[in-house]
Amino acid sequence: MPEKAKELLKEHGLRKTFGRQQVLIYFRERSTAVSHGDLCKVFPEMDRAALYRIIQDFEEKGIVHKVPDDEVSVKYAFCASSCTAEEHHDHHLHFKCDACQETYCLPEQETPKIYLPEGFRANSTEVLVHGFCKACA
Ligand SMILES: [Zn+2]
Ligand SMILES: [Zn+2]
Ligand SMILES: [Zn+2]
Repeated sequence: MPEKAKELLKEHGLRKTFGRQQVLIYFRERSTAVSHGDLCKVFPEMDRAALYRIIQDFEEKGIVHKVPDDEVSVKYAFCASSCTAEEHHDHHLHFKCDACQETYCLPEQETPKIYLPEGFRANSTEVLVHGFCKACA
């Protein structure tokens, strides 16, 4: 896994710092989204601002994508598809469990087309489905 993390950083044009490798491995091994606050708890030895910059770099380079959340401002999840610095391809729904608060990507569920009133223009569409995950149902 550490080798794969180094490769992925290289592919996305990021220098292989120890911090980035650790955070990348963490994202890869999870099936759910995490917030900046969550990461700070997982990596207490790392500086909060440094962790924030790592997330920003990852998002910018197509390694993680933003996931809407109703409680924290935003969460992030590992990009399953072939995202690049030019374009993210994570146009899918997300599911948040009301019991464990974990947020899952639903990559097979594409974001539905939204019909807006005349004169309105959408920049992005975020759909967050609430319910109970398999472990909590
Ligand atoms: Zn992406
Ligand atoms: Zn749950
Ligand atoms: Zn997602």
